[in-house]
Amino acid sequence: MRVDSLQISHSSRAMFASCPRKLEFRKFYNHSRREESSATLTGSALHKAYQDFLVHKDRERAIFILMMEMPTAYDERPLQPRSIEACYSTLLAMMDFQQYNKFEVAVIDGKPAIEVPFRLRIANFSLEDDRHVPVEYIGYIDVVLFDPKHERFISTDIKTTTRGLSDFTPAYKFDDQQLPYAFVIESALGQPVDQLDVQYMNCVISLDNPQITNLPFVKSRADIEDWARGLALDLQMLKLYYNNNWFPRRVSGCTAYNRTCNAFDFCHSRDSAMIEHMLSFETAQEQRQFDPWIDIELTLETGK
Ligand code: SF4
Repeated sequence: MRVDSLQISHSSRAMFASCPRKLEFRKFYNHSRREESSATLTGSALHKAYQDFLVHKDRERAIFILMMEMPTAYDERPLQPRSIEACYSTLLAMMDFQQYNKFEVAVIDGKPAIEVPFRLRIANFSLEDDRHVPVEYIGYIDVVLFDPKHERFISTDIKTTTRGLSDFTPAYKFDDQQLPYAFVIESALGQPVDQLDVQYMNCVISLDNPQITNLPFVKSRADIEDWARGLALDLQMLKLYYNNNWFPRRVSGCTAYNRTCNAFDFCHSRDSAMIEHMLSFETAQEQRQFDPWIDIELTLETGK
C-alpha cells in the first residue's frame, strides 16, 4: 500500500516494536479499530479531570469531568480495580497531592500548557527514494509546569496504574516518551535546552488506598540525541519493510495485554486487495482533530 505521507507518534513506535505488521495495518491500511481497555479509558478520564483541575483549581468541576468521561459500565462492579469509585478516590488523592503546589502551569502560545499538541517534521527523510513521502512525529505533552523559584520548565507526564511496585523508578528511568518534548520547549523558549527536567506523576488507582508519587529525572542532551537516533533507526526499518511491501509478524503481540490483536482475523493474508476488502466492513473511527501549537522541522542524524 502506497501513502503520500506518514504520521507517527510514541504509541505508533511502541506498536512497531511490539509487531511491525500491526503498524502496517494501522498506517498503511487505515485500520483504525481501537483496542480500548479499562486501563486506557480510566486513564484518559483521570487525565482529563486532573488536567482541568490544574488550570481551574475547581474540585467539583474536575469530579464532574471524571464522571462524564467514565464509561457507565463501570458502575456495575465497585470493587473492580478501576471502578468509578476507585477512580473517584484516586482523583481526590491527586487533587490533594501537595508537591506541585510550588509550580505554576506554564503558558505556551498564550494558553495553559496542558495537553500541548506538537509536530516534528522530519526534514531529511522520505519513505520512498523516487518520490518525496514526508514523515512527521506528533504528540501531546500532558502538562508543562513552571518552577518560579528555579526558573525552569518541567515536563510532567501523568501515569495511572494498578501495579503494586514498591519503587517505580525502574519503570520510568529510561522511559523516552518525554525526550522529544525538549524540542518543543526549546521552540517555545526560543533558546537551546541543554537538559530537560521531566517528572512522572505516578497514580496508583485504588478504592481505599490510592498512592500518588512524583518521580523527577533530568534528561541530558545525550539522552535527547539517543531518542533521535532511535527514531532514525526505526524509520530506516519502517522504510525497508514498506518498500519491500512486507512487514514481519511478531507473535508476542497477538495476545498482548491478554487480548487478541484486533488484526488477528485478516493477518494471515498478504493480499492487499483481500485485506482492503475485509477492512471495508469495519466502521471507520472518528479521528481526533490535530492542530499543533508547536510545529518544528527536525533533522535527524542518519549515520550515513
Ligand atoms: S495478529 Fe499478531 S502478527 Fe498479526 S498484526 Fe496482530 S500482533 Fe501482529
